Amino acid sequence: MPALFVMTDSDRSYVGRFAPSPSGPLHFGSLVAALGSYLDARQRNGRWLVRIEDLDPPREKPGAADHILRTLEAFGFQWDGEVLYQSHRVEAYREALDSIRRQGLCYPCGCTRKEINSAAAVGIEGPRYPGTCRGGLPAGRNARAIRMRTDNSAICFHDRIYGRQHQRLEQESGDFIIRRADGPFAYQLAVVVDDAFQDVTQIVRGADLLGSTPRQLYLQHCLGYTAPGYAHLPLVVDETGRKLSKQSQDLPVDGSKPIPALLEAMRFLNQPLAEAHPATPAEFWQWSIAHWDIARIEKRPA
Ligand code: GLU
Repeated sequence: MPALFVMTDSDRSYVGRFAPSPSGPLHFGSLVAALGSYLDARQRNGRWLVRIEDLDPPREKPGAADHILRTLEAFGFQWDGEVLYQSHRVEAYREALDSIRRQGLCYPCGCTRKEINSAAAVGIEGPRYPGTCRGGLPAGRNARAIRMRTDNSAICFHDRIYGRQHQRLEQESGDFIIRRADGPFAYQLAVVVDDAFQDVTQIVRGADLLGSTPRQLYLQHCLGYTAPGYAHLPLVVDETGRKLSKQSQDLPVDGSKPIPALLEAMRFLNQPLAEAHPATPAEFWQWSIAHWDIARIEKRPA
């Protein structure tokens, strides 16, 4: 593939989204992502959707999806339309995988994690797949995962906060999994299928996903989808520099006291605050939507 320069399209009317995985209660980092995507969408009179990314049953906590939705409501977020659940979308992922397969862009892989770890060079997300099964499954091996075949052409895009980005997929991410050995479709595939299905035009999310975006742009290209625009928000980390995790119940936000957490999220994104303390979430949103300024966000190392 020649270098892929992705021009994002700003003509379609704005559709944004927040796509939490229900692995635990909403934490301060996910509140920042929800707030950033919401303000950006609402300031541009856009739609704002919520999608529950419940693709990974072992990592999910019973009741977490409902808890997240109730917390969003308590913070005064108002989403458009019905919440989309990825667990209901398996047929769409299967069709996308079939299309990729028909184009010869993926292959079955029989390697175990242990084999990959011992053979692999290190890529941007740890051990990079060494390509063992690229030319066909070695004799006696069974297919476990399905991998996307990557190449070394540069994938370039403009992030509204982090600026120009580029990645050579083969060298930096390696051939990545689109269907996992234990069955579920991988996040990278599902997110792209659903963002296209929901006509999402602008993605505002945490900078932990900046390095995934080239894989997603590549999948969009292979599936014939229009690429959305991207803005990655600086990541909230704990004192040791680690990303907060819903699974380990880091810094959960308290829906019974929405205003302090909303103001803290605004401060974190270097946004202006109203002189008068807002009395209700509705008052907070009205002012903040009018004053949201993405250019004020300071990028920190992703
Ligand atoms: N489901 C992902 C998470 O909770 C976010 C996916 C995305 O925004 O693309 O971290």
